[in-house]
This record gives sequence, structure tokens and C-alpha cells, in this order.
Amino acid sequence: MAGIEITGVSTVYPNGVRAVDDLDLTIADGELFALLGPSGCGKTTLLRTIAGLEPAAAGSVAIDARDVTRLEPGARGVAMVFQDYALFPHMTVAENIAYPLRVRHVAKSRQREVAAQTAGSLSLGELLDRRPGQLSGGQQQRAALARAIAAGAEVLLLDEPLSNLDARLRLEARTFLKRLQHELALTTVFVTHDQAEALALADRIAVMDSGRIRQLGTPREVFQRPADTFVANFIGSTPMNLLPGKASDGAVSVAGARLPVEVDLVDGTPLVVGVRPEYLKVSGAGLSGRVSIVENLGVTSLVTIECADGTLVGLTVPEQEEPAVGEALSVSAAPGRLLLYGEDGRLLGSR
Ligand code: ADP
Ligand code: MG
Repeated sequence: MAGIEITGVSTVYPNGVRAVDDLDLTIADGELFALLGPSGCGKTTLLRTIAGLEPAAAGSVAIDARDVTRLEPGARGVAMVFQDYALFPHMTVAENIAYPLRVRHVAKSRQREVAAQTAGSLSLGELLDRRPGQLSGGQQQRAALARAIAAGAEVLLLDEPLSNLDARLRLEARTFLKRLQHELALTTVFVTHDQAEALALADRIAVMDSGRIRQLGTPREVFQRPADTFVANFIGSTPMNLLPGKASDGAVSVAGARLPVEVDLVDGTPLVVGVRPEYLKVSGAGLSGRVSIVENLGVTSLVTIECADGTLVGLTVPEQEEPAVGEALSVSAAPGRLLLYGEDGRLLGSR
């Protein structure tokens, strides 16, 4: 049982940068958890603060219900894998994996046994005598993971674990990581700036911005109901459509259309109306516009439509005939998929 409880944590660098800002977060035992956000939002700093590599300026970190805020990294029961893997270049794979055991003076025979076992489960069995320089990126990554796992930690902290791999290998490593995490049931926190990776892998995601959490939820929640326009913009392989609208008499006027809404809004309130391209049907009654760009994605096409008040991007459904550039079209949002954001960017409701 090794959940993580972060309470009111701030991490401030000597130059005054407040990289983590009064942050609360509870991660459950055995969870595969993603810290997601743009570069510089404080993901690595938060991970290093959990590991004890950066001191918390305020607040507390508890692991397995034990306050570790003042403990050294080695006493926290966590293992961290760094973005550049940080393997010892002069040691073999076996020596690298066994290193955490060696520093604890575990018997040599036991070191070899654990190294061979861990390497085996990560498909590194044939590579035990190689040095890091003789391994591919994917193999180095697995060796770094093996070293962390061999340490016997209950919490695994991974900083951008897949970002040094090429696109094809990254997909393979993603599946591998998910299976491994499931088998080991280790509480795992991984950092990524790649929203697709977080959506595909994580049980839950914290979307971060400027040292704070913008939204905490399952991939489905974060994708379907972004809590604000920042998250709406950040999540999704094609950005969400966001159009200016206005509340008027129990309806929202947007892109020349009037849509009745159930949210209580004062007349004249400016709004941002959001809808994912995936939920925008490119046919049928609704907002009308003219097709300006068609991008073939294989099974479906991404269609850009110029409407009265802006540009919308929608997806065709499989088997639907591809619209032609210049064609006049009507687009409609699937029920419940129109999201209404206030002027401050916060989600007000949906329709
Ligand atoms: P991320 O991992 O999300 O890209 P970081 O945690 O690395 O973000 O950085 C968060 C903020 O802290 C950034 O503004 C970054 O410039 C700053 N920062 C990171 N490391 C240091 C450091 N060692 N000293 C001073 N500022 C730092
Ligand atoms: Mg980072």
C-alpha cells in the first residue's frame, strides 16, 4: 500500500522561481498517474519534490501514510528514472541493475539473481554483459526501468520515460510500460508533455500549468469535459473548436445560430463555445459554412469549415463521402458535446 499524499506543497528555486505553487494531490496505491502539461509548467520539479531531490519550501509529502517531507531520497521508498536514463556508462547492464542492491550491501549472489530476474521480465536477458553505450534507446530505457524496479521501491517516478524514443518505438514502449505497471502494480507517476501519451496510458491525469493543477481526472473526463479553455486547448490530437458566443434569452448565439441552453446565464454574457472536432458532425442541420480545407486521415477526414463567426474543424464519419473544397455544408454538434466557457475560461456547462 503506497499511495502518495501531497498537501500544500510549494517548491521554490534559489533564483525565486516558484515551480510548484501550493499544490494538493492524492495519488492512489497502485495507480498509473500522469503529470501532463507544457514545458516549464513544473512537472519535473513536482516529481523531484516527491523523490526528495528538491526540498519543499512549504507543505508536506506523505508516502504510504508516512510523512517523508524531511527524509532523504534514499529513505522514501521511491525510485526515479530520469529523462536521460542516467545509467552508469562504465558499468554493464547487470551491474547497473544491481547497483541499488550493491550500495545496500546485499549478497553478490542475490544481486546477480535479482538482476537476471528483472532483466528477464524486461526482455534484457541477452544484454546483461553490455554497457549502456552498446544499447539502443529503447534498451537503455528498459535498463533504467529495471534498475529502478530492482531497487524494490514501492513508488516509481518516471520523467518523460518515452520522449527519447523514436515514434514507432515509443508506441511499443507505451504498451510495454502499461503491461509492466499492471503486472507489478507499483504506484507509478510519470511526467509527459504529450497529451496523447497521457490519455493512452494513465488511470488519471493532472493537467498542470504554472506550478498548479488545472484539472485532475480520468483521461475520459479530461478529454470530454475540459475544466477550462487552457485544458481544452491542450488536450486532443486536433485542438478543440472554440468560438465566441453570447448569452441571450435562454440561448447562446454562436456563429450565426441560436442554441437553447439550460445553463442559467445573464443576457449579454460573453461566452466561449467549445466543441471537439470528433463530436462535430459534418452534415445535417446546424451551423452552415463553406469547406476550405480537407485533410485525409485514412478512415476519416478532417474538414475545415468557414462559418459566419469563425472557423470550425470537424471530422467525417467512416464511409462518409469526403466533402469538396468550396462546398456549402451544415455542421452540428452531438448532443451534450457543446461546452460553454465563461469569459474567465472556466467551464459553465454543456449542451
Ligand atoms: P517541466 O518539467 O514541466 O518542463 P520544470 O519543473 O523543469 O518544468 O520547471 C518549472 C520551472 O522551474 C520553469 O520555469 C523552470 O525554468 C524552472 N526551473 C527548473 N529547474 C530549475 C533550477 N534548477 N533552477 C531554477 N529554476 C528552475
Ligand atoms: Mg521536465
